[in-house]
Amino acid sequence: MENEQNLEWLQPQLFTRFKQNLKHGQLAHAYLFEGVAGVGKKEMALWLAQGVFCLNKQEDNLPCGHCQNCTRILEHQHPDVIELAPDGLSIKVDQVRELKVEFSKSGVESRQKIFIVEDVEKMTIGAANSLLKFLEEPEGTVIAFLLTTAKQRILPTILSRCQLVHFSPLSKKMLLNELQKSDISENQGSLLVHLTNSLETAVEMNRNEWFNESRGIIWKWFQLISQNEKQAFIFVQTDVMPHFKEREQQLLIFELLLLAYRDALMLLYGSVDLLAYPQYQKNLQEFLAQSRGKDITQAIETILFSKKKLESNVSAQGVFEQMVLLLMSVSPVKTR
Ligand SMILES: [Zn+2]
Repeated sequence: MENEQNLEWLQPQLFTRFKQNLKHGQLAHAYLFEGVAGVGKKEMALWLAQGVFCLNKQEDNLPCGHCQNCTRILEHQHPDVIELAPDGLSIKVDQVRELKVEFSKSGVESRQKIFIVEDVEKMTIGAANSLLKFLEEPEGTVIAFLLTTAKQRILPTILSRCQLVHFSPLSKKMLLNELQKSDISENQGSLLVHLTNSLETAVEMNRNEWFNESRGIIWKWFQLISQNEKQAFIFVQTDVMPHFKEREQQLLIFELLLLAYRDALMLLYGSVDLLAYPQYQKNLQEFLAQSRGKDITQAIETILFSKKKLESNVSAQGVFEQMVLLLMSVSPVKTR
């Protein structure tokens, strides 16, 4: 039941649609569930498997969630629901062969089989070919749920045999809520949900020490810039460059800075909802008290322009130094 509530919350539209499908006994032969990590793809596949095998179906043909079959499915113990995930970096042909052997064993509970393949884009060509033979089994005896976070890497021959189902990413609020369940504070989580829409990536970033130092450095830099401190210029050489060495890393600087200015704009328009830096709301208000909206917009344009320059391979330090001068020219003038 918990799984069901979770699905209703994560994917309300898809959940409604699949409830209709179960009610009318209209499941397709093969599905490709596509979407970022943590949006309920596996949960949906397991719930539909329950819908097929439940011994105590409820109104509208829905699974009860606690009969023997439903329980075994959730515990990954049902002999007719077979799950496959990459062994190391890929799904190998032997794994698919084993799956076939599993399937051909007689004496398993029913003729109906369901298989769930995670990260299906990681299948080797051999494994994919072997899987395709599966998908050619007569309708109704096999239902395949292929799950992927990278639809563009799925072989066209597989794609063409599946019904494609897109799982939308979580809204920022939902993602933040999920992050808090994994003991990530609201302050930390708020920034993460502005940088990624994947739960998995957000949790990884939060564990990454380099990233956590980055957020501190860039916030400090933003403060120096927004207070028009001369030190902001030298900060490029003393703090920014030593920490952000690779081009990939340097691109994060723009994202982190943009979010600070974006927060300022949000506050300017009276929205305190979902700031990237909620813990610094007071500092931002002080900055705003002396800024004009068009200066903030100008700052945002400057950052976007600098990002383009860096992407066209101009020296990073030069780009950041020029950017800081431009940003300070639209920061409030120091009155102290
Ligand atoms: Zn049941």
